[in-house]
Amino acid sequence: MTTTNCREAVRELWRFLDGELPPDERLGVEEHLERCVRCCGELEFAQALRGVLAAQRAEPMPADVRARLEQFIDDLE
Ligand SMILES: [Zn+2]
Repeated sequence: MTTTNCREAVRELWRFLDGELPPDERLGVEEHLERCVRCCGELEFAQALRGVLAAQRAEPMPADVRARLEQFIDDLE
């Protein structure tokens, strides 16, 4: 998965957190977040996000987080 860009990565985060993403696509998102200063710098909740992933919780993403991601995608466009 070398085609993952910022918009794709942020969009996939929703499914990523819901545990609906296939393993290969999960890797694409994880690798993007690790490498992309833009996403990690812009997304203030990146660390909390990683904490959730580390705990492997399957809780729905809070509405405010979803709204932030929506805004972030808008900014990319
Ligand atoms: Zn990015």
